[in-house]
Parts: sequence; C-alpha cells; structure tokens
Amino acid sequence: MLRSVLLYLSEAAWAKALITRFFVARRVARRFVAGETLAEAVQAVRKLNADGLTVTLDYLGESVQSAQDASEAADQYIHILDTIASNNLRATVSLKLTQLGLNISEELCLGNLRRIVEHARELSNHVTIDMESHHYTDATLRIFREMHRSFGRAHVGTVIQAYLYRSEQDMAALKAEGAFVRLCKGAYKEPPDVAFPRKADVDANFLKLMRAFIDTDGSTGAYLGVASHDQRIIDAMRDYATSNNIPRNRFEFQMLYGIRSDLQRKLAQEGYTMRVYVPFGTQWYPYFMRRLAERPANLWFFISNFFRS
Ligand SMILES: Cc1cc2nc3c(=O)[nH]c(=O)nc-3n(C[C@H](O)[C@H](O)[C@H](O)COP(=O)(O)OP(=O)(O)OC[C@H]3O[C@@H](n4cnc5c(N)ncnc54)[C@H](O)[C@@H]3O)c2cc1C
Repeated sequence: MLRSVLLYLSEAAWAKALITRFFVARRVARRFVAGETLAEAVQAVRKLNADGLTVTLDYLGESVQSAQDASEAADQYIHILDTIASNNLRATVSLKLTQLGLNISEELCLGNLRRIVEHARELSNHVTIDMESHHYTDATLRIFREMHRSFGRAHVGTVIQAYLYRSEQDMAALKAEGAFVRLCKGAYKEPPDVAFPRKADVDANFLKLMRAFIDTDGSTGAYLGVASHDQRIIDAMRDYATSNNIPRNRFEFQMLYGIRSDLQRKLAQEGYTMRVYVPFGTQWYPYFMRRLAERPANLWFFISNFFRS
C-alpha cells in the first residue's frame, strides 16, 4: 500500500513541485544521489574506483517532453563519456530512453541513442539501457536489439525486470542473442495482469531467470549483471557459479549508490566485478521516490529529518 502511494507520488507533478521545495528532501536524497553536477559525480566515482568498485553513471532524467531536451540529454551523455575517458575512470553509463525522447518519437530517441553508443564505441566504453515501466518494454527491447546488432554486446546492454511475467521469454531470447543483460526485480508500479503482485514470487522468479540466463558453457557469449542488494540472491549467484564452474568474467554484481556499501566492498574484495550505479543531476525526484518506495525505513528516515530540520 505504502509502496503504491510512493510510486504514485514519484510520477505526480504536484508532489514533485511540493517535495523538491524542501532543502531536507535534497539532503536526504544525497544518500542515493552523488550530487547535482558531473564534477561531484566524478569525485564519487574516484572514491569507488579506489575501493576496487567499478561504476555505471546515470545522468538523472526521464519522460522529457521536447526534442531539444532529449538532444541536450544525449549531448550530456557524450560529455560524460569524454569525462570518463579523460579522467581514466572505471565507469560506463546507464540511461533511460524516455530521457532521449521516446515519448516524442521512437525515431528521435533512436537517433539520440545511436550518437551516444557510437561515441561509447569510439572510446571503448559501454551503454546500458535502463528499463522503465511495462509501457516501454517492447520499444526498449526493439531499440536495444537495433543497437546490439550495430554495436554488439561490448558497447550496449539492457535491463530485464523479474517482476514481469513476460521476462522469462525475453531473457531466453536475449540469451540466445548473446546479449548483455542487467537483471533486477523492477521498480515501477505495475498492474497484476503484467507483473507478479507478491514479492515472494518476484524473488523466486529472479532466481529462476538468473540461473537460466547464465551462460554455463560460454556458447552464447551472454553476460549477466545481477542487480540486487538481496543477500539471498547474491549468495545463490555465488553458489551457482561455484558449483557450475562458471568463470567470473561471465557475470557481475550491480548495486545502487548508497545502498549496502559494505556488501559492495566485500564482493569486490572477494574478486567479483562489483558495479555501482551512480546517479547524479538535478532531476533526482522520481529516482529518490522509487528508493523510498523500496524500503519503508527510508521514508521514516526522511520524515524524522523533516521534523528535525
Ligand atoms: C544497478 C541497478 C540498476 C537498476 N536498474 C533498474 C532498471 O533499469 N529498471 C528498474 O525497474 N529497476 C532498476 N533497479 C531497481 C530494482 O528493480 C529494485 O527496485 C531495487 O534494486 C530493490 O530490489 P533488491 O533486488 O535490492 O531487493 P529488495 O528485496 O527490495 O531489497 C533487498 C535488501 O536490499 C536493501 N535495499 C533494497 N532497496 C533499498 C533501498 N532503496 N534503500 C535501502 N536499502 C535497500 C535492503 O537491505 C533490503 O532488505 C536497479 C537496481 C540496481 C541495483
């Protein structure tokens, strides 16, 4: 119930206008967001790299309404890729297609994305296309496949959400295509006709999809990002890899900036690739609200800060 309300608020313009007015909201959001500028994000990446963690940088923004905003977001990603290269950072980028104009036209979005992925290829870098609500799943996979055909797994990947019923089929197809896939549970408010309503079913589906996707014999070239802070999922992945002799270069762990940082460091120390998703920028509101929705304790933290301020 609380999750549904917070996810509703994450998309409500009136709530955004109200909540972002408060300094305390910005301060609490800083736990999950590296800062509002690229310079602040670079500082955060340096610290994570120094601890043996690799990064994917997310320039926050979604649902843009004008072609100019979409094009500027693409320019910003190109600048981020250049900054990663010039600072020798161990970082890729992650982006949302509605930030590149998917709500305006698929062609516009594809043009913006192509510019970014082309640039990533020139710099030997990689772009992961985040997955938004189920309204965008077909378009996202269509656009991902076009990019994958042109640039290959080394330069582009996408995300699958374990809460969607369709994901079993999508994962099987992407495995056969040798794709780079980040598997997560899913962060949006979805109706019961498209997604498992019960968390226990989402968790069970995650484990099932994770094991089925892993390229045990290396024949497909598929690569898996296990994006979860759930200890049971991480333990299950480790056990599965050990008992099936799966080399560590066929998968990686991924977590969000500011969440389970202890576990992030531990996995890196154990020699796993541990990628931290580091968001930055001024458009932090919907991202922040989704983080509150995932864990009621975050909301109480926010409320207690609010009354203390
Ligand atoms: C790298 C990465 C990229 C992602 N990309 C996408 C995407 O493209 N599309 C999409 O829909 N979703 C995305 N997500 C979000 C994901 O779908 C989940 O909503 C989120 O990761 C919480 O699920 P969980 O697997 O950590 O499990 P949960 O069962 O929700 O949490 C397990 C444990 O992790 C900790 N935890 C989880 N969330 C929080 C939090 N917000 N604050 C504090 N502690 C927390 C708690 O200790 C909790 O008990 C991404 C997640 C990661 C890690």
